[in-house]
Amino acid sequence: MAASIIDGKLVANLIKERVKEDIQNWMSKGNRAPKLQVVLVGDNPASYSYVKSKTTDCIEVGIDSETLQLPDTISDRELREIIEGFNKDDSIDGILVQLPIPDHIPPQAIIESIDHRKDVDGFHPMNVGRMQVGQPCFRPCTPAGIMELFNHYSIPTKGKHVVVVGASQIVGTPTAMLLSREKDGGKSTVTLCHRYTKDLTKHTINADILVVAVGSPGLITGQMVKEDVVIIDVGINRVADHENERGYKIVGDVDYKSVSEKASWITPVPGGVGPMTRAMLMKNTLLAAKKSLYP
Ligand code: NAP
Repeated sequence: MAASIIDGKLVANLIKERVKEDIQNWMSKGNRAPKLQVVLVGDNPASYSYVKSKTTDCIEVGIDSETLQLPDTISDRELREIIEGFNKDDSIDGILVQLPIPDHIPPQAIIESIDHRKDVDGFHPMNVGRMQVGQPCFRPCTPAGIMELFNHYSIPTKGKHVVVVGASQIVGTPTAMLLSREKDGGKSTVTLCHRYTKDLTKHTINADILVVAVGSPGLITGQMVKEDVVIIDVGINRVADHENERGYKIVGDVDYKSVSEKASWITPVPGGVGPMTRAMLMKNTLLAAKKSLYP
């Protein structure tokens, strides 16, 4: 039987609708609109398109947003000085530096230069650490969005064996952390696989829930999963497609056709995790404006 679709677009729209109502309530009490400051360094077309979508979401929910576009020749120090200015600016609630940034700038130094109270991406060590110990914090948008999908579709995670493939600091590792947590988490038993994992199939074949965040189109095939697995495909990959007027199409890390024949639930790409990431950014920006997490 074909898998049921986990419709991230639909769930994201519901979340954005709630954020929009909250913002209207917040402003009706005399508060200004929340403001997101985006920083885009260089001219990576994928980053440009992500920022454009995030800006569209801001308009939709009533968040003011501004994008500062900087040349890829900017130095590490200059970029940190600009961020320092945004940290001090009381009219800015959330700061987002679109990753990746050029190779000569160490991303961790930039992430750490953002005031953690404005770190709506949830990448600052203060937020990462507070998440680890179960304290209020900005949760990283993609992992938080994945947790919302399980909630919305009442997909049980408690006691399930979750395999996360890909161990980045922004997706795989925090997803594994949230899913394994007892308090406000998935209560799952988690295996975290990465580049050095030997015999990936040995792990994926045992997954009740498989989260894939690698950036490798078609990495997971039908032979690598068991019947009724729940699939969360985080990957966003551009592959050549001459039938498409853009010359490319977007695919995930999962071979959709073979895997969806065995899975019970699956996120499509596009339209699965991507819209959830953006919706959670809207939610985090509102939390930042209300100073809900760091009063
Ligand atoms: P990343 O920083 O490149 O991390 C990828 C991870 O996968 C790393 O831990 C990497 O290990 C590991 N890996 C590489 N090859 C592997 C293999 N063959 N088997 C197992 N693990 C392997 O990427 P990311 O930022 O996590 O993003 C992953 C994918 O998700 C990308 O396609 C990205 O575009 C997409 N993404 C989507 C969303 C969304 O909202 N849907 C959000 C963020 C990212 P090493 O570190 O050793 O290389």
